[in-house]
Amino acid sequence: MTGRMPLARACSLVALAQGLLFGSSAGATGMQGHIYMAECGAEQLAAGPLRTAVFDEELPWLTNGAFFPDSGYTADDHDQGEIPHWEGYVDAYVAWLRAHFDEPLSAPEAREHVAFLFGIAAHGITDSTFDSLLWPASAERDPGNVESLDTAMDVFLVHDLARHLVPDIVLHEDVLSQLFSDVGHPISEDAIVDAMAVARVGIAAVTNFLAAHPEERLAEHPWAHTAYLDPRTPGGYAFGARVVRRYYEELEKRLAGSADVAGLVIGTYPDATTPLAALDRNDAHARLVIFFGHGVDRASFSAASVVVRDELGNSVPGAVNGFRGDEWLNVVTFDPEGDWAADASYELVVKKTLVTQGGHSPSADIVVPFTAPCAGCEPRLGKAGVPPSSCPLTDTRHPFPADEPTGVGGGDAEPGAAQDEPSGCTLGTAARHEGALAAMLVGAIALSMRRDRDARRARGRSAS
Ligand SMILES: [Zn+2]
Repeated sequence: MTGRMPLARACSLVALAQGLLFGSSAGATGMQGHIYMAECGAEQLAAGPLRTAVFDEELPWLTNGAFFPDSGYTADDHDQGEIPHWEGYVDAYVAWLRAHFDEPLSAPEAREHVAFLFGIAAHGITDSTFDSLLWPASAERDPGNVESLDTAMDVFLVHDLARHLVPDIVLHEDVLSQLFSDVGHPISEDAIVDAMAVARVGIAAVTNFLAAHPEERLAEHPWAHTAYLDPRTPGGYAFGARVVRRYYEELEKRLAGSADVAGLVIGTYPDATTPLAALDRNDAHARLVIFFGHGVDRASFSAASVVVRDELGNSVPGAVNGFRGDEWLNVVTFDPEGDWAADASYELVVKKTLVTQGGHSPSADIVVPFTAPCAGCEPRLGKAGVPPSSCPLTDTRHPFPADEPTGVGGGDAEPGAAQDEPSGCTLGTAARHEGALAAMLVGAIALSMRRDRDARRARGRSAS
């Protein structure tokens, strides 16, 4: 492209790309958030071959896996995005690795696949940590429309941590395509490659453009912005990354063919780090949530699979529901019928009768004790006393280039305070890299055409 595109035109097209890519996935965190939690979880792994493989050596593969599921939503076939979010696809990848490599953490090519698989898995479970806890809390507490929260979360993350990550694409599209066939829904290699390229356009748009001006989104979602990096926040990014770390450890056992499912539960809200944050049963934070590191056979699940007991051993009345999963369940919620008793102790019990995708059950019930806060003692999230980050390397690993006009993150400045651009759209980097801008715009237009085509097809179906 030669010549210079008028800024207003460029801004509107980038906003279009952003809206199309991110606005259609309400109730989900953005792609930068998924990548962050996948990396933060990997950083927390104990030193050893697993951490070396997925964090130290093959991080780009983990990063790409972490936005691969949402990339599929940009394709003609909605299920190209939906299917990789769930245990059916994850387990097909585990099976493929086991069939092709004796020691997946030793062979270099296998490590790429392991890291990509872990990224996919991290994406799926962090959609659920976020959607079950942080998303409904923002809907209750923030004045803005929660439908725009996913984009706002990515804007906050890039801005607050000055995190400049627009990943180069790496993927084994032949294997990823094969896995779609393995789960009974063939997708071509070309469709996978195209979708990842379009998703990268969206990531670039948020990172290079939208994140420089968070003011509007800060006004819409002030509570979410204050809370999302606080480790005590139910469903916040530190919470999600903790669940991810445990998921990785469980997946390592699955790759080794282990029958040990004592670690079936990879996270709960509340837990030791994230205490129960509300007594009022109508508050989003009164809900208990359980995350599994294996798909659970729905036939083995019932309302009796999860029990909550009070200090006297009595069952607490409440509704037990499967929250997420495909054929295989992986998230369960408990909504109490009444308020939690202030300052009281409880036990959350997951019954050993659950059966995993692999046909295994824990040898004993899994018991998680927790305590309700005293009245008026709910944590004041994101205020004084915020615990330190669990992943300092991830927090600083992708800095903005030193010669960048920042206007982002850093220091003690209030987010948004350091802006010097007069309008709602800054072209920062891209004004000097028009090739990247052109690529973004082409991607935006291509995606717009796809959406139009989808809409036409949908109208055709409903009319017939
Ligand atoms: Zn997703």
